Amino acid sequence: MYGRNTASYKFALATALLELNPKSGQLVKLEDLAPVFARHIARHLKDAPKQITTRDGKFMQACLSYNQDQDLKKLVDVTVNHGFANVIDAFHVVGASPVMHSFYQDERKSNNGIRITDEFSLLAQGFQASNLMQEVEARWRLVETAWNLGVSANLLNVQHDHAAGEIFTFDQGMRRKNVTSSRSALNGYQKGRCFYCFTELLLGEEMNVDVDHFFPHMLKTQLGSVVDGIWNLVLSCKDCNRGADGKFERIPTVKLLQRLHTRNEFYIGSHHPLLETLINQTGRSESDRSKFLGEIYQRVQLNPATAWEPELRAESIF
Ligand SMILES: [Zn+2]
Repeated sequence: MYGRNTASYKFALATALLELNPKSGQLVKLEDLAPVFARHIARHLKDAPKQITTRDGKFMQACLSYNQDQDLKKLVDVTVNHGFANVIDAFHVVGASPVMHSFYQDERKSNNGIRITDEFSLLAQGFQASNLMQEVEARWRLVETAWNLGVSANLLNVQHDHAAGEIFTFDQGMRRKNVTSSRSALNGYQKGRCFYCFTELLLGEEMNVDVDHFFPHMLKTQLGSVVDGIWNLVLSCKDCNRGADGKFERIPTVKLLQRLHTRNEFYIGSHHPLLETLINQTGRSESDRSKFLGEIYQRVQLNPATAWEPELRAESIF
């Protein structure tokens, strides 16, 4: 999903595989993958008619038709014949070369399907597995929102609604459009951990996650709307944010400021849909971005003796 993203097929395939949750070594036949894969695209087409940046082919037309006639057999037939042409080969390719891990082997020629690898099982059994589906969905929403607004995915300009926990943008008519939950959009860039104490975060029903402004939201009167930028939003466990000796409106230590810089560089390095937004907000080069954070810190942290930092609850991983 870190690739060029000229169509949303990779998001749909990732979602379908996570949903089917096959075991290592299992053969997933195209005919079994097709209904799950295609219906996720059909679902997204309802909200965002543009799911591909080139001309619609037979497969996309079939997904559109399915939303009208609900004819699943017809959808599956077209998907098996045309729907996987670009995605199964491309899934593991980012830029010009394949990624380090393969989640399946292509056995379309011999067995009309794909064979799941150990790498996929490791991912699907990991602690963060339950968050993955929401992360894929968040990323898909960001990319398709950009396409449907007619801008490059890297130029999508978003804002954060703190009360609703939503990332939103404005459509051509300057109407507000909610894009995705900010928690899901931020989680992958902290390796699924609380920004401050590294405890594991859970996005599902047992959610223990707050979206926190690193530089407290109350500084908006002094710093302006820059405080609501993605660069200043981190995911925090509830204890760190507002538990006993939690952060509340305090400003963190310089060590944590350095960690914020590291986290923001994860976005920049990953070709995230909000990459350009982040660069616009904080600077073009890494040293510009570091300077940006340092200058804000000097303006607002007038007494370093009161700087806040919690005890670590797990090993430091970034
Ligand atoms: Zn924490």
